[in-house]
Amino acid sequence: MSAPLDRSASWPYDTAGDPASYVYARDEQPNAVSVENRIGALEGGRSLLFPSGMGAVTAVVLTMLPPGGTIAVAEGAYYGHRELFDHLRPWGVNAVEYDQTGAPPDDADLIVIEAPSNPMLTMPDFEAASAHRAAVICDATLASPLRLRPLEFGCDVSLHSATKVLAGHDDLLAGVASVTDDALYDRLHTTRHLTGLVASADTAWLLERGLQTVEVRIDRMEATARVLAGHLAEHPAVTTARYPGLGFVISFDVADGAAARRVETATKTIRNATSLGSVHTKVESRHRWEGDRCPEGLLRLSVGLEDVETLWADLEQALARV
Ligand code: PLP
Repeated sequence: MSAPLDRSASWPYDTAGDPASYVYARDEQPNAVSVENRIGALEGGRSLLFPSGMGAVTAVVLTMLPPGGTIAVAEGAYYGHRELFDHLRPWGVNAVEYDQTGAPPDDADLIVIEAPSNPMLTMPDFEAASAHRAAVICDATLASPLRLRPLEFGCDVSLHSATKVLAGHDDLLAGVASVTDDALYDRLHTTRHLTGLVASADTAWLLERGLQTVEVRIDRMEATARVLAGHLAEHPAVTTARYPGLGFVISFDVADGAAARRVETATKTIRNATSLGSVHTKVESRHRWEGDRCPEGLLRLSVGLEDVETLWADLEQALARV
């Protein structure tokens, strides 16, 4: 059954005048705790909810990066991470990109990998990353904890934009960081409490509702993605098709930026919109956001729940415009 929604910002002390289970919502809140327990069980760790994926990354970096330290971030990974780290440069944050299929640079003080990376869909070398002296953060948004549990691969933190497949319906922003180390959990909790990077009760409640169907959604989205990735790899207008063998995101290249624009604006069932992991299939050219970080002709396809034949027919007619 659904947990009751509790929008309280504060709760009464008990009859002896002492704090009860909940005191003030910036510290703990029942709907957030409920969703954290559910995600923690999926991740094999203890989870903390944040108001967005970027909020979670911000809290992790503020907590774990030593002042003046270097973050080694996977190239071809979510561009917002690199933008955030560059934005924090005045505070002494130094970001370098590296090929996550190999070892991180020796001088890294914090390592941010992505499994699989968005939109280049590479997988990290977990062994090389966890052999490094620096702590390892793994963003596994595109895999979900149902397909990949970074904490079992030696990562210190598993990160998700819960905005995506965990919620699944394009109707909320949220982020989650999960850890196994209790001391790190406490430090992250303190950062969240003091910075106020706190998700609302409504967000937590809606995310928990999304989690009730995440398994069946991912099974279907992934089965469809496998079929579409196979078709795309054989289509004459597609120069490169990437699919990491799991999950619901495919990226593929057509000749150039103009061809990509023609394809993304020609789909009918498939929506031309950003984001991924929802019940609605979406396609977009990533060059518009990422510039030279990805090929001009790259299209990212996030596969939803629609019928596979309908989706392929839609892609075929759009690719005919190339
Ligand atoms: N990580 C990945 C892989 C993403 O794709 C995104 C957003 O697209 C984020 C993190 C940031 O998440 P949010 O938009 O919830 O802040």
